[in-house]
Amino acid sequence: MPRIAVISVHTSPLAPAGGHKAGGMNVYVGELTRELGRRGNAVDIFTRRTGDEPTVVETENGVRVIHIDDGNADFSNPEEAYIFLPRFLRSMYCFLESDGASYDVIHSHYWLSGWVGNMLARRWNIPHVTMFHTLGEAKNRARISEHESARRISTERRITATADKIICASQDERNILVRHYNVSPARIRVIPCGVDLDSYHPIDKAEARKRLDLDGSPLVLYVGRIEPLKGIDILIRAAGLLDEEGIPFQLLIVGGDDKSSTERRNLEMLAKSLGIDDLVTFTGAVSHDVLPLYYSAADVCAIPSYYESFGLVAIEAMACGTPVVATRVGGLTSTVRDGETGYLIPWRCPEPFADKIETLLMNEDLRRRLGEAGRQAAEPYRWQNVADQVEGAYHDLLDLTQESYS
Ligand code: UDP
Repeated sequence: MPRIAVISVHTSPLAPAGGHKAGGMNVYVGELTRELGRRGNAVDIFTRRTGDEPTVVETENGVRVIHIDDGNADFSNPEEAYIFLPRFLRSMYCFLESDGASYDVIHSHYWLSGWVGNMLARRWNIPHVTMFHTLGEAKNRARISEHESARRISTERRITATADKIICASQDERNILVRHYNVSPARIRVIPCGVDLDSYHPIDKAEARKRLDLDGSPLVLYVGRIEPLKGIDILIRAAGLLDEEGIPFQLLIVGGDDKSSTERRNLEMLAKSLGIDDLVTFTGAVSHDVLPLYYSAADVCAIPSYYESFGLVAIEAMACGTPVVATRVGGLTSTVRDGETGYLIPWRCPEPFADKIETLLMNEDLRRRLGEAGRQAAEPYRWQNVADQVEGAYHDLLDLTQESYS
């Protein structure tokens, strides 16, 4: 069984998802390592200390989360954390000197961790598997969020040039790596993300609504971080159009924390200016365990993102039997089957969103059919399948290393 050093510098799998910095990547690292640990792999996750966390937290299945001091208590964007990476690395070496752990393979997540992974791989002479989760070039091409820096992109280029294997979650991300980062396809492995199908399954809608204290009006749901790239403004404008048409609905926006309060205020003002503030509710972040109730209570789950490298929310909604209306971008183009499990919208504007949401809200039979197909389509995304493939990538590299020594 390989001993795996997982590097997740700027976000911890222990942080609750849905906040400003914690989203799909946290869920991914937490769920994948849980499954790898369950199979008997020795897994240590290295992440930066943000407060008074104990140095080592042992989670389920013996996975250790190790909090490393980088001397920077907080940062508002990942660029700031970059400056502290050398200190993170030094503190990590100090910890390992006293702890004595050693590893066979490094698995890094996001460009900051990729930088650390590159350094470790050089020092320890072991294979480095990396995942970007999002790429600077992809975000810049989506032309919405603040411009991703030249430093981020050049760091990503260095990582792609040296890492032994790059795992990406969708064909779309693979294409970006090949086209814009000049990566040879042989060094890329596409492994889609996962969903916990035991927890994420359809729950009786009336029961779910009762438990969430929701009334019976048709429910459109958004789940995710609150940031411009997510296109929530498009959804609120679409809701304004539904209201103009006299379609009854309520819109629930799940996610966000103190750090996203400015964006949330802007969105609340938008809803007010459209006269629909009484129909739009911001719940703040909801615990990942409770989300199946929200997905099951909803009639439609909307994902209006400008860009989404994978989009866990789509397969979570599908697993709970809820049709998805999503922008035709990134990983969503491979998870959502247009007309079968939901609809893909090629334009980033409110009218087609309102149109498809209306179609679904007005047609219970269609919702049921698409929802059932969604649950089926979610089946292959179970975390066990993801772990099988990721373990396969580790073993391929370890076999190659052994061959080169024999
Ligand atoms: N999430 C959560 N609670 C919330 C909002 C979001 O647990 O209040 C989770 C959601 O279930 C999903 C993840 O955060 O697993 C968001 O992942 P996605 O890939 O959709 O977006 P990302 O955060 O990677 O941009």
